[in-house]
Amino acid sequence: MKAVQISKPGGSFEVVERPIPEPGREQVRIKVEACGICHSDVLVKEGLWPGLQYPRVPGHEIAGRIDKVGSDVTLWKPGQRVGVGWHGGHCFECVPCRRGDFINCKFQKITALTFDGGYQEYMVAPAEACALIPEDLPADEAAPLLCAGITVYNPLRHSGARAGDLVAVQGIGGLGHLGIQYARQMGFRTVAIGRGGDKQTLAKKLGAHEYIDTSSGPPAEALQKLGGADVILATAPDSKSMSALVDGLAPGGKLLVVGAGMDPLSVTPLQLIGGRRNIQGWPSGTAMDSEDTLRFSVLTGVRPMIERYPLTKAAEAYQQMISGKARFRVVLTMGG
Ligand SMILES: [Zn+2]
Ligand SMILES: [Zn+2]
Repeated sequence: MKAVQISKPGGSFEVVERPIPEPGREQVRIKVEACGICHSDVLVKEGLWPGLQYPRVPGHEIAGRIDKVGSDVTLWKPGQRVGVGWHGGHCFECVPCRRGDFINCKFQKITALTFDGGYQEYMVAPAEACALIPEDLPADEAAPLLCAGITVYNPLRHSGARAGDLVAVQGIGGLGHLGIQYARQMGFRTVAIGRGGDKQTLAKKLGAHEYIDTSSGPPAEALQKLGGADVILATAPDSKSMSALVDGLAPGGKLLVVGAGMDPLSVTPLQLIGGRRNIQGWPSGTAMDSEDTLRFSVLTGVRPMIERYPLTKAAEAYQQMISGKARFRVVLTMGG
């Protein structure tokens, strides 16, 4: 089979022939149909994850079909359509697992960091990492929902916001263009926050009731003019832009951080005390959360905007993602 691997930190994408992998007792083998390219693939490409072993096949937005199951697998059968996201499995025995909090497993496996990901024609994955894909969702549209989609859907549905509440989505990119759609479909008064007037039309098309252009004034003031945000979902990994939103929160409001940046947020205790404001992070979710994301997307018509490339063009596809020019998610398709 064909696989695309990285052999060393900073290495290039190599198209190689590999034997089709065999699933272990508690694993399934998936014939990959599509794999999204996520910004976090930079961790594999550039060797930014401590202890990562090479060669490694990147990709944690996988959609395909089970074609073989290990001897101890009872949950899945060959032929079922499944997806795998960032959360690549858990131990079932650590304290968080025993509490059912699998996303916080101390021995959590991460797809494409702990084991090879989806830039290949077949992959093996732990059975508990698989999410069922609804029949009427094509693989290339399902794939980005397994990381980008769940990353915004899951925190939004747990945000505490109620129907009609003002929910702002900061950033109109890979995560944000989905966040706007989900916020609208969940019944929130949806405000998109982007830079430049040119994104307004798209934001409204995705379902935003209002659009705030950060280049035309402080976004926190604009949010307060609308009554203050009950929730701000911050998707653009720019800590300075996120920090500038805190004063736009309504009393009890929450800044929900999913854009994974490395720079500190800057906020004063007084900004949080006055108005009883919160800042919270949220780590995507488990396979069941992925299933919920996929089902909700089918129910409401939420879809990613994608650009497709064949597997062998992975290098070009990755370049398109990293350039920031993609509208909005880049997906590798296995074809043929
Ligand atoms: Zn991702
Ligand atoms: Zn565990």
